Amino acid sequence: MGKTHSFIAHDKSHPLTAQIYTELNALRKEMERAGYVPDTRFVGRAVSQQEKEDFLSHHSEKLALAFALISLDKDSPILMRQNLRMCRDCHTTLALISKLRRRKIIVRDAKRYHHVRTANVPVMHFGDILYFFFLFFLQVCVTQ
Ligand SMILES: [Zn+2]
Repeated sequence: MGKTHSFIAHDKSHPLTAQIYTELNALRKEMERAGYVPDTRFVGRAVSQQEKEDFLSHHSEKLALAFALISLDKDSPILMRQNLRMCRDCHTTLALISKLRRRKIIVRDAKRYHHVRTANVPVMHFGDILYFFFLFFLQVCVTQ
């Protein structure tokens, strides 16, 4: 395993911050061309639509994704671990980018890690189980 990088929402402490935010903007344009509309329904703050979208677009998962895309080999799967539940918009973003960029993205959070462990499917690798579960889960989010 390589080095682990941690991100919090709106993080600007990483040495590659400028590149990360540039990549985020590029990703957003790419996604919008593919029909993406930011899901701001759960941004519970009385601010403008633009502010809500900016707020959403700087969630830690997206920062981590942008960082992974600019720093990992094209064929490497992107592994993320998070300590909070991912919001719907981040699910949509990861699913769409995984598809558009043909990248395998694996996210592990405390809840799903637990589910997968108790699923007891010994034939597949742990990562593959997570990946399929994740894809299924994302599929559900995307088609809603
Ligand atoms: Zn989010």
